[in-house]
Amino acid sequence: MTTTDLGRLPIDGSSSLEEVLDAVRAWVVAHVPQAWRDAASEGTAAIRAVRARSDYEAWYPIFGRSGLVVPNWPLEYGGLGLDVAAARAVEAELAPYNLGRLNPLGLNLAAPALFAHGTEAQRLRFLPPIVRNEEVWCQLFSEPGAGSDLASLATRAERDGDTWVVTGQKVWTTWAHLADFGVLLARTDPEVPKRAGITYFLVDLHQQGVEIRPLRHIGGEVDFNEVHLDGARVADANRVGDVGDGWNVANATLSGERQMVAGSGSGGVDRIGGSGVARLIRLARDHADIDPVIRQELVALYAEERIRAWTNQRVRAGLRAGRPPGPASSIGKVHQGELNQRIQLMATRLLGPHAMAWPSSALDYGASLPYEVAGMLRSRANTIEGGTTEVNKNIIGERVLGLPREPDPWKDAAWREVPRG
Ligand SMILES: Cc1cc2nc3c(=O)[nH]c(=O)nc-3n(C[C@H](O)[C@H](O)[C@H](O)COP(=O)(O)OP(=O)(O)OC[C@H]3O[C@@H](n4cnc5c(N)ncnc54)[C@H](O)[C@@H]3O)c2cc1C
Repeated sequence: MTTTDLGRLPIDGSSSLEEVLDAVRAWVVAHVPQAWRDAASEGTAAIRAVRARSDYEAWYPIFGRSGLVVPNWPLEYGGLGLDVAAARAVEAELAPYNLGRLNPLGLNLAAPALFAHGTEAQRLRFLPPIVRNEEVWCQLFSEPGAGSDLASLATRAERDGDTWVVTGQKVWTTWAHLADFGVLLARTDPEVPKRAGITYFLVDLHQQGVEIRPLRHIGGEVDFNEVHLDGARVADANRVGDVGDGWNVANATLSGERQMVAGSGSGGVDRIGGSGVARLIRLARDHADIDPVIRQELVALYAEERIRAWTNQRVRAGLRAGRPPGPASSIGKVHQGELNQRIQLMATRLLGPHAMAWPSSALDYGASLPYEVAGMLRSRANTIEGGTTEVNKNIIGERVLGLPREPDPWKDAAWREVPRG
């Protein structure tokens, strides 16, 4: 038997490393389809060729129940309770099969806030379905007038007995149209300075008073939305942290988001626009006329990608050892955003004329844009999403390098008195 009755591997923090790896190997043989295992030795592209996204989603509950999605999380939250070294060994054992984690916003944005500031009841209620991808999450932070200056947000939450009534508008909300829940920042006290009057909630999106309107990317995909909240209700039991302490709680989410975008988070974002110098090298091999300048640029990108991977490994190791990522995650975020844009641009250069012309039907919804073109267009957002490069540079300057803070004349003024554009 390779799993418990719940589908979880029969191992925990008391198992030896040998027992852990034996159980993982047995689980792979029993549960990862043969064709995926056969393709694993030939790399990610071979796996993608035999594994459609829909196949993977249909199979995912087996992975979700196994505990292997988050091996170092406690058993009761959906993990295996393994220590840092064992969890790393498990990840290395599974790496060839490219078992990406679904629900990255639940794993990387909601979960850090719940771990750091949630109640035990909230963790037990919300973390296991996140791990199993049974409840999908989104992030309701940005507003039309509050992006970089997030703390100026205007969505209001007013208390009504044991519930809060929420009214306002969010924007750029990735996957809201697919989500069941969102982490929400709302203003609960307009009479105090902007950061002090915010509270953090977990809001159920399947209710009256929540309207989700999809927006389209430059490349044609629909993956973010406007979310209109008009009298939506949140139980006080779904408030994370104290009333007015939402900015502090949000920092756990924002830090998790920067790690996710930098590639050092615990959930992989499997979508178009992901980096990959290996893919560039394959493209270059198909083009005999590659000149020496392009060769040199490829080598430089390869070196930078390795540096980024090692930096991410260092951040991940620190996280597993219980060290907070802190503002240093901004460094990875800035680097990854710019590096991926250069990688994606290089892909279109290698594609040559094929990157400039495609069937006109593709212009409608982007579905048949060449992969490289879709990746290049998607990557334009990499220096905006998860906090812009400029704003992350401010964080690095102020909180990593200790430079003087950006002046804010309204720092101590009540939010209600601060002019908003
Ligand atoms: C693909 C994508 C997905 C997203 N998904 C989500 C999501 O799921 N949930 C969510 O809540 N939000 C999401 N966002 C929103 C994202 O967090 C914001 O776009 C981002 O924080 C910037 O805010 P803004 O768009 O309002 O730009 P603004 O804040 O208006 O910035 C405009 C420009 O001014 C610059 N700037 C602003 N302030 C400063 C400063 N102090 N110093 C120097 N330069 C400055 C910025 O760098 C930028 O170039 C997403 C965005 C994108 C592109």
